[in-house]
Amino acid sequence: MLIDMSVTPLSADDRQRYARHLALAEIGEAGQQRLAASSALIIGAGGLGSPAALYLAAAGVGRIGLVDYDSVEASNLQRQVLFTHDDIGAGKAEVARARLLALNPRLAVDAHAVRLGPSNALDIFRRYDVVLDGTDRLAVRYLVNDACVLAGKPLVSCAIHRFEGQAMTYIPGRGPCYRCLHPLAGDALVPSCAEAGVLGVLPGVMGTLQATEAMKVLLGVGEPLLGRLLVYDALAMSFQQFSFQRRANCAVCGDNPTITRLEDDGEATMIEEWTPEELAQQLEGARAGSLLLVDVREPHEWAAGRVPGSVHIPLGTLAARATEIPPDRTPVFICAVGGRSMAACRYFAGGGRPAINLAGGVTGWSAVHGPLPRPEGCQS
Ligand SMILES: [Zn+2]
Repeated sequence: MLIDMSVTPLSADDRQRYARHLALAEIGEAGQQRLAASSALIIGAGGLGSPAALYLAAAGVGRIGLVDYDSVEASNLQRQVLFTHDDIGAGKAEVARARLLALNPRLAVDAHAVRLGPSNALDIFRRYDVVLDGTDRLAVRYLVNDACVLAGKPLVSCAIHRFEGQAMTYIPGRGPCYRCLHPLAGDALVPSCAEAGVLGVLPGVMGTLQATEAMKVLLGVGEPLLGRLLVYDALAMSFQQFSFQRRANCAVCGDNPTITRLEDDGEATMIEEWTPEELAQQLEGARAGSLLLVDVREPHEWAAGRVPGSVHIPLGTLAARATEIPPDRTPVFICAVGGRSMAACRYFAGGGRPAINLAGGVTGWSAVHGPLPRPEGCQS
């Protein structure tokens, strides 16, 4: 990894601020200078990105980038410790930038309030020494992985679900990538029955582990999670590790990669994502007749209420019932919060058909448009 080593000596203030680092032989003055000369990019200023960004800023990583185009919502505050109640409604990237600079004014913090996609990922990634992925969107996780492999950037990838967290580190040329661990096909169609739930402190644990890995990568110390998947179970209070290897046939880091440019990822470009407001607009616009709202939740969830005009095809039955979606209609997939519906989108896009994901699912829809009506004939 190439880090700009044109370092400046530590000031008296720096020596005071980083005294506990300077006392560690593994960091010391040279390591602290190295951190100051290095940069980290954090994808998603959310539950994982919050603690990761705060600790990297506190540690003196000289430049921190934050990619997030969302605004702070009340439901974020249960775990996204970058934000306060007063921040509700404000743009996450800018709020996070101000918060990090308040913690450590000597840093440079770049707020990227953009939607990460194939057209901008490589451009942004090339400006940083390490990437931390804390996105909750599966499609973005693959995009981030592929961009890191193509740009030759180390990646610390983390995911959380309910009470469980997973972490792994990729270093170009030294081990497997995220796609080696989860080759796309097959993984994307796993229904999750409680995707909306996560223990608030869980991303705190995992985001802090992510920051730890990023610092080790930047400093060149310790043993990163190369070819090791770390799984944390908060209920059992256990950490387990699973070894995995680079796959020679990996689509992006394998011997004969098929993903050589991000633009080549036809699946990602065939998927659109709409907010509840955007969907409402589209349903009143010229495209309305070409859309079909498809709810992929489980029957008991569907019975409790649904977006008006939607049809019901549970995710587990989608492969068998895909022909029920006419070729001249573009499905808008809907689930509880947007995870399963994205899996449905990827399944469709994988078959060469465009699909649209309702971001935030019925939860987001009802937050904007009010309580969901129940399907006809379901009065209980
Ligand atoms: Zn790979």
